[in-house]
Amino acid sequence: MSVSNDTQAAPAVDVVPLGGLGEFGLNMLAVSCGETTILIDAGSMFPEAGLPGVDLVVPALDYLDTRGGRVAALVLTHGHEDHIGGVPYVLPRVDGPVLGTAFTLALVENKIEEHGLELGARARVIVPGDRVRVGPFEIEFIRVTHSIPDCVAVVLHTPQGVLVHTGDFKIDYTPLDHQPTDLGRLAELGAAGVLALFADSTNVDRPGVTGSETDVRDAFDEVFATTEGKLIVASFASSVYRMQLIVDLAAKFNRQVAFVGRGMQENSQIAQRLGYLRVPTGIAIKDADVSSARGRDIVCLVTGSQGEPQAALSRIAIDDHRHVSLGPDDTVVLSARAIPGNEKAIGRVINHLARRQVEVVTEDTRHVHVSGHGSVDELKLVLSLVRPRYLIPVHGEFRQLARHARVADLVTGGLPAPTRVLLAEDGHRVRFDAEGGRLLDTVPTGRVLIDGSRTGAVDDEMLRDRRHLAADGLVVPVVVVNRQTGRREGAPEIVARGFVPETAAGDVLVDGAAFLAAAIDGCSVEERTDEGLLKERIRGELRRFLKKRTGRRPMVLPVVMEI
Ligand SMILES: [Zn+2]
Ligand SMILES: [Zn+2]
Repeated sequence: MSVSNDTQAAPAVDVVPLGGLGEFGLNMLAVSCGETTILIDAGSMFPEAGLPGVDLVVPALDYLDTRGGRVAALVLTHGHEDHIGGVPYVLPRVDGPVLGTAFTLALVENKIEEHGLELGARARVIVPGDRVRVGPFEIEFIRVTHSIPDCVAVVLHTPQGVLVHTGDFKIDYTPLDHQPTDLGRLAELGAAGVLALFADSTNVDRPGVTGSETDVRDAFDEVFATTEGKLIVASFASSVYRMQLIVDLAAKFNRQVAFVGRGMQENSQIAQRLGYLRVPTGIAIKDADVSSARGRDIVCLVTGSQGEPQAALSRIAIDDHRHVSLGPDDTVVLSARAIPGNEKAIGRVINHLARRQVEVVTEDTRHVHVSGHGSVDELKLVLSLVRPRYLIPVHGEFRQLARHARVADLVTGGLPAPTRVLLAEDGHRVRFDAEGGRLLDTVPTGRVLIDGSRTGAVDDEMLRDRRHLAADGLVVPVVVVNRQTGRREGAPEIVARGFVPETAAGDVLVDGAAFLAAAIDGCSVEERTDEGLLKERIRGELRRFLKKRTGRRPMVLPVVMEI
């Protein structure tokens, strides 16, 4: 057959997940054929609690060095941080286009601007249905629904066959923007023959279907109807659908909307500019005007749904926000899932709010949040339509990937040509050639920890946390506080390694400890008894102090001991 002859002559296609398989976050997939390597997504992950002092975790790019070091195209499925957060660190290696929808690229531009970078001529805005040729790949885009507007699945037409990458998706039949998942195109591709499907595994544990973004409207309607004072809604700054819902209900219930927190302000502006968020005239109010308005006239959309100590909600919760303060008539809605690992921080925020007698609504008590990832029946539907020869489950911890494999077996096991599952993890090289698909070997992977104090100086060196440590060293302030009173017990101690200022090494640390003691004593009791907030405060203050005194930016890892 001429087809198999062609395949035999054609170069192999190698797919290597560099992140996102075996963990949630930092999604990145390298696809190579011949000399050409492209990346699908460049995500980051928020550091786990065990990594204080680290702002961001991104995949290591050592594997790219074995492929000539350069990237012919960066393909982005959507604008969530776990898919675009690593773009600033990858961009210096990208020679070709950065492909994404208008909203995704706008979020990227906004992000990389902080790093002094720009996409420039590399930006290539695509719409679903577009096809772009990059080397041996023809890249096609298909509309999918998720929890953020303008998401796409990616189809790679390669010399070995068709690869389909779902991106993050659920099957939302009634999305707020009336742009449903293009099931028809997925079925067409399936009928014509798909070599491999890379599919989102996040919610494979959940039975049935996830539900539409519009499903939360009733619960919010009730909250609006029953709240006497201020209404605060905390969600991800990228949750534009949620923003739209709140804006629409604000219009209905005669409240004005304030966007509070930098991410919320920036993203709402981008979304409005591009037409993804429609705010009727007269509805918006500046955050600075919230304090002078009557509570019942206001709804605030705020950042901090994950209990992030530097975000708006954490500051509001300890009454330390410039514009927003809360009391007994007010309601806070946490309209987001708790990302695993953040439960404790979120719990602390809820405790602070409870102390101010604020009513707190979470998805446990009312249906104020819906996931953006398809449940098991949606995964089954996609498998049935695409009918791939191989399934590579992506976007999940290993248990989700493994369960996705069993689901594929249930769906296709009895068919004439069952789907074979390749259970890959980060660093596994999946090879497609004349022999079919298989896990070939493993390549070097890893994580790079990034300390935000270095943003602005982005180059390849940024990618090596150890170089940062080698250059500026490590400083560990140890502070003991009384758990009940929040009183500082004794003077802070500062331990340093590899941080050797040119002048008066000892003095800097002694002065730093005294400076820190004063800074801590200046905090409210609530802040001092909240480990997360206190660590963030110590880190920020000490960084500023050391930068000013020595011009250096060591990594600062605060240790707070409660007695
Ligand atoms: Zn996503
Ligand atoms: Zn994701």
